Amino acid sequence: MRTYRIAAIPADGIGPEVIDAGLEVLDALAARAGFGLDVTRYDWGSDRYRRTGALMPADGLDQLRGMDAIYFGAVGAPDIPDHVTLWGLRLPICQGFDQYANVRPTRILPGVTSPLRDVGPGDLDWVIVRENSEGEYAGHGGRAHRGLPEEVATETAIFTRRGVERIMRHAFAIARARPAKHLTVVTKSNAQRHGMVFWDEIAALVAADFPDVAWDKELVDAMTTRMVRRPASIDTVVATNLHADILSDLAAALAGSLGIAPTGNIDPERRFPSMFEPIHGSAFDITGRGIANPVASFWTAAMMLEHLGEAAAAASLMAAVEQVCAAGIMTPDLGGTETTAGVTRAVVDALRGANAPAR
Ligand code: NAD
Ligand code: MN
Repeated sequence: MRTYRIAAIPADGIGPEVIDAGLEVLDALAARAGFGLDVTRYDWGSDRYRRTGALMPADGLDQLRGMDAIYFGAVGAPDIPDHVTLWGLRLPICQGFDQYANVRPTRILPGVTSPLRDVGPGDLDWVIVRENSEGEYAGHGGRAHRGLPEEVATETAIFTRRGVERIMRHAFAIARARPAKHLTVVTKSNAQRHGMVFWDEIAALVAADFPDVAWDKELVDAMTTRMVRRPASIDTVVATNLHADILSDLAAALAGSLGIAPTGNIDPERRFPSMFEPIHGSAFDITGRGIANPVASFWTAAMMLEHLGEAAAAASLMAAVEQVCAAGIMTPDLGGTETTAGVTRAVVDALRGANAPAR
């Protein structure tokens, strides 16, 4: 029996609530699908920051290095600036393990209502690929003349040939593996004439290696309207760190709720562990109330299983989640009346009823 070493980092707010739900479902699944999970839980996050001044220990990356995958909740607290929590935990892991592809599948699950009129499952089935290592979030910039009238701040977007080419190749490869075989390359090359024209050029170069993938280009502002007005014209999308960050929150909302959307921070070359997380944050407005939607965390777990090579288990987990959604067993963000625990129990029951073949 294969056993996977999983690092669980629930962190802040509803993070622990949804990660605990996900671990419960993974446990039920592993027993049936015939693999083992060796879960190590880390208490990293804002509480640790308040106690010690750091969100994670100095040797944190070394502790994670030997893991098969990282299962992450959310980070952020009302009393700590967001740039401190983000740069203190999530970004060091993404950058330290060169998780340069942030992959965000979005579709409308059965039983879930999109805020778009007349759009149902099948009309919206996207994968957004976000460049996750450079661009606008590379951390380059500075401030001068603090507090003076002539104060200036810069935030420099960094694009390298290696960085853009590798994300473009990964996005074309994802598009190729999907039935539609279609990629939309999103930039802002009318206004940003250096980095974004560079993206367009590299897209054309890489496209030549994927003659079976159809592709088009869209400016990011036009892309927001296309997502709302012509969702079925979109399949796989690739965009910069900032642009895809924004587009994927919109995508999650169009698919019903931020509470269902998963993501993987992937090192496609598999030199390091990849990290899987719901795209939502720590949601302090609902923390501790037992109503956080655990579906994003379940879908995240399915992505993690797929990455580990357990595609059949991932598929049965998604089938169980879809069965539960279709039955209307949902938390309030999706218009339901269930609790986190109620949805979790229903998914575990669905998995037990699924008669997964014992290996
Ligand atoms: P958020 O995603 O935490 O919440 C936005 C809204 O969506 C809230 O109304 C929240 O209640 C709702 N929501 C989110 N997840 C939900 C779920 N699973 N079930 C039901 N409702 C859900 O975003 P925010 O309010 O902008 O940020 C809160 C904190 O989280 C901030 O500190 C922010 O920096 C942090 N954050 C962290 C991450 C991350 O760790 N990857 C991502 C986004 C935001
Ligand atoms: Mn975001």
